[in-house]
Amino acid sequence: MLRTASCSASLTSASPFFRHFPLSYSSLSSSTGALRAPGRNLRRVASPASTGRRVFLRRGLRVPSTAGRGVNRQLSRLSVRAVATQPAPSYPDVGQDEAEKLGFEKVSEEFISECKSKATLFKHKKTGCEVMSVSNEDENKVFGIVLRTPPKDSTGIPHILEHSVLCGSRKYPLKEPFVELLKGSLHTFLNAFTYPDRTCYPVASTNTKDFYNLVDVYLDAVFFPKCVDDVHTFQQEGWHYELNDPSEDISYKGVVFNEMKGVYSQPDNILGRIAQQAISPDNTYGVDSGGDPKDIPNLTFEEFKEFHRKYYHPSNARIWFYGDDDPLQRLRILSEYLDMFEASPSRDTSKIETQKLFSEPIRIVEKYPAGRDGDLKKKNMVCINWLLSEKPLDLETQLALGFLDHLMLGTPASPLRKILLESGLGEALVSSGMSDELLQPQFSVGMKGVSEDNVQKVEELIMSTLKKLAEEGFESDAVEASMNTIEFSLRENNTGSFPRGLSLMLQSIAKWIYDMDPFEPLKYTEPLKALKARIAEEGSKAVFSPLIEQFILNNSHRVTIEMQPDPEKASQEEAEEKSILEKVKAGMTEEDLAELARATEELRLKQETPDPPEALRCVPSLNLSDIPKEPTYVPTEVGDINGVKVLRHDLFTNDIVYAEVVFDMGSLKHELLPLVPLFCQSLLEMGTKDLSFVQLNQLIGRKTGGISVYPLTSSVRGKDEPCSKIIVRGKSMAGRADDLFNLMNCLLQEVQFTDHQRFKQFVSQSIARMENRLRGSGHGVAAARMDAMLNIAGWMSEQMGGLSYLEFLRTLEKKVDEDWEGISSSLEEIRRSLLAKNGCIVNMTADGKSLSNIEKSLEKFLDLLPENPSGGLVTWDGRLPLRNEAIVIPTQVNYVGKAGNIYSTGYELDGSAYVISKHISNTWLWDRVRVSGGAYGGFCDFDSHSGVFSFLSYRDPNLLKTLDIYDGTGDFLRGLDVDQETLTKAIIGTIGDVGSYQLPDAKGYSSLMRHLLGVTDEERLRKREEILTTSLKDFKDFAEAIDVVRDNGVAVAVASAEDIDAANNARSNFFEVKKAL
Ligand SMILES: [Zn+2]
Repeated sequence: MLRTASCSASLTSASPFFRHFPLSYSSLSSSTGALRAPGRNLRRVASPASTGRRVFLRRGLRVPSTAGRGVNRQLSRLSVRAVATQPAPSYPDVGQDEAEKLGFEKVSEEFISECKSKATLFKHKKTGCEVMSVSNEDENKVFGIVLRTPPKDSTGIPHILEHSVLCGSRKYPLKEPFVELLKGSLHTFLNAFTYPDRTCYPVASTNTKDFYNLVDVYLDAVFFPKCVDDVHTFQQEGWHYELNDPSEDISYKGVVFNEMKGVYSQPDNILGRIAQQAISPDNTYGVDSGGDPKDIPNLTFEEFKEFHRKYYHPSNARIWFYGDDDPLQRLRILSEYLDMFEASPSRDTSKIETQKLFSEPIRIVEKYPAGRDGDLKKKNMVCINWLLSEKPLDLETQLALGFLDHLMLGTPASPLRKILLESGLGEALVSSGMSDELLQPQFSVGMKGVSEDNVQKVEELIMSTLKKLAEEGFESDAVEASMNTIEFSLRENNTGSFPRGLSLMLQSIAKWIYDMDPFEPLKYTEPLKALKARIAEEGSKAVFSPLIEQFILNNSHRVTIEMQPDPEKASQEEAEEKSILEKVKAGMTEEDLAELARATEELRLKQETPDPPEALRCVPSLNLSDIPKEPTYVPTEVGDINGVKVLRHDLFTNDIVYAEVVFDMGSLKHELLPLVPLFCQSLLEMGTKDLSFVQLNQLIGRKTGGISVYPLTSSVRGKDEPCSKIIVRGKSMAGRADDLFNLMNCLLQEVQFTDHQRFKQFVSQSIARMENRLRGSGHGVAAARMDAMLNIAGWMSEQMGGLSYLEFLRTLEKKVDEDWEGISSSLEEIRRSLLAKNGCIVNMTADGKSLSNIEKSLEKFLDLLPENPSGGLVTWDGRLPLRNEAIVIPTQVNYVGKAGNIYSTGYELDGSAYVISKHISNTWLWDRVRVSGGAYGGFCDFDSHSGVFSFLSYRDPNLLKTLDIYDGTGDFLRGLDVDQETLTKAIIGTIGDVGSYQLPDAKGYSSLMRHLLGVTDEERLRKREEILTTSLKDFKDFAEAIDVVRDNGVAVAVASAEDIDAANNARSNFFEVKKAL
């Protein structure tokens, strides 16, 4: 599985230049496997360059570039120059008459050259519902409906409603149409999100029929959900008392309840939440739309229903359509729904009030739950937040603030970031940057891992640095680097696996939702040109210094938040919850208790009873005949330059070159393995004899679109030796490929491992990142641990990114000062053992002409590499001992895993395995672990390269119970009876995963991965045929293979001390206990 620590459950992206709030919630965690494709089971340790900023990279975005993280994430592909000469193509139009007939009026219409789209704003005459209809050539079509949903308290109504409306509707009266779509559609995106003030329901697909199916299910769900008539959904998704037997204790259950307990177990999240609420105490942002677990049980079903009635109305909705489908058809679909409503005042009642600016700064001190281990004195967090303005800013000011943000914090070389990290006052930055996703923009900067005595020093350093930046301005090379980085992103418009149309929608809605112009956020060219011209004319200081002064230094709306670790807090909260529940129980009569037990049982029965086939049939689905029989082939030409294998992919990339240089780890000494991530970070962030790391970083920003370096390991099917590589990945304009390769060479050969102090920072940042990962992605840590017991590649990966890595880092932190010489020469030794033509592979993606033009630059680069690595070949054979482990962390919810190798039973890979594993996730585990178990996520993952089949849960209130569910999977398969329609759905859903839509750079990269792992196009075709012909018999046969997990598998849980104790008492020391936090 592709494991990156930089992924987050949070949402991403809206406007061009700002970063975004991590405070939105979605129906599906990006960490649950439901949306992942099988067969891409590669481990990648997160790029060491990733930081602890409030930047949440899009899921699937594999390479955070060294420069430009966080800013400019989804911008149009056109450069400023190209825009001027771009003729407006014509797209099918909707005439005024046709619109009128369907009940709409055309409000305005524009050609937006930035995204080569014609955009038309319609208004539904009867209800006032607004519709943006965007037409272009993009086959990845997007629909979204967005409602303004400001909460009045922290009971989490908007969030619980977001989950609940997807649980059945008028036309689709089954338990979860959403899950049926997950199972059986070709969606390229399917989810829903709750923001602090709005709720979004977006879908995307490249198949038109599929797309309209998704749209219809979503429209029906939003306007006519069953949940408002059915208290069971509210109980399941929100909260309810659970009592299995009157003699037992009552507990709280609910998917959102547990999801939010997970959120409230992470210090970074707690800080972000407190900051948002403190900075806007007087409007809706003063409460948590996601729900505070303490407040969620105060929510009643009546309030829940009323909230839907009030805000889920066309008059309060904004709808977005995007892509190459027929714009008239969009209006036809909508009129059918919208015409059923009369106008409502919801658009006025949902207005977000402005927070008046404070006249005095304020300071808040809070506690957060911390573990008992470690030096608690060094675990304070401090963060300063500003609300920048009462009025909305014009686009040019916004762009300028976005630039300023990038200049101050965007790269490791940016002064504010660099000065804070080099001060040694804290381990890492926390929630830092500009954000303009809500009504009023804000700026935050802070640090975590700060000792008590240093809290004030951090505050002073932040303020004095900002002052210094206002007085002295920025280096011209830094300004040029930021400019190039931003322009490069505009041209590239690389949204990763996130649909481009959705990223545009989120940009547009960030203004539109506040009744501002929905077109404006899409048109950045002119303001960008103006800003560039001003910088050229007046100098950057004249542009940026007044901004720092006006919005930050002279702005008294400043909230400083200090968070102190409290080892008692987690158990206190647990005790409080327990005492509340005890009181509830004490207040009940025997009849009440019997009734509660009966209700608990009734809910469970309802959850576990499958929908009748008639109900399932009403969810529209494709036929197998709608599915192309062949996989997408990526053009690949394999050649040779000076003995190095070169893969070339001739694809249209808008004049950008993507290059990966792959080195083999086959000569690396075992004991050096855990140093590899820090080696990679050192290459990017240490500098050479002639260039400081700041200069080198600026050079990369000025000349390229970014370079990253990271290790990659995977098992290879049928081989004992794992694939273990270091990948250097970069991109640039085709005309600058020479610079790109020169800079890669400079990083690889000239960087000096001499900066002791910087290295120390890398270590403490890595520790902070790993600790955060344990709390936020414990399932990933558990999976890595199990993999490390089951195969060599897993072991290697765990050494570089799992719990073993964290242990290594903690030891290393103590050693850095004693033996820096030794560490520095180890880094040098890693370089010598990797860097060689022998074993190197180059992968390039660009159009044919660019590919041949860059040949010379590549040749020069390869000529400079040594022939052979130093040191002989080593054999990798490490494994962790097989045992059940429980890793203790302070948390309110657990992560539970179990895994085994199904190839060990003699099972041979068949494409049906993907269909079956997806089906297990979407039915058995979804129903038991999530729906009735109350966990936020439960899924399985099959690594076809190693044969490891793993079960994982996410933010799970249970432990042993979840393991029992996993163990029941074989019996579930044996007892399974699926009709042809269900089977077809499962097949189509799987095809959607394996052949998901990719941008050109991702196509080239996937092709490289297949090359490295020996997956041929013939094999892909065969697997696809096997997927398409999966039968019920395959499910039954698979049961035998999967029993190996039950019988010989290993279990690893990341959980609270209390739950682990209870499990070990119940099942005589089932787990070996390991303390981690
Ligand atoms: Zn949620």
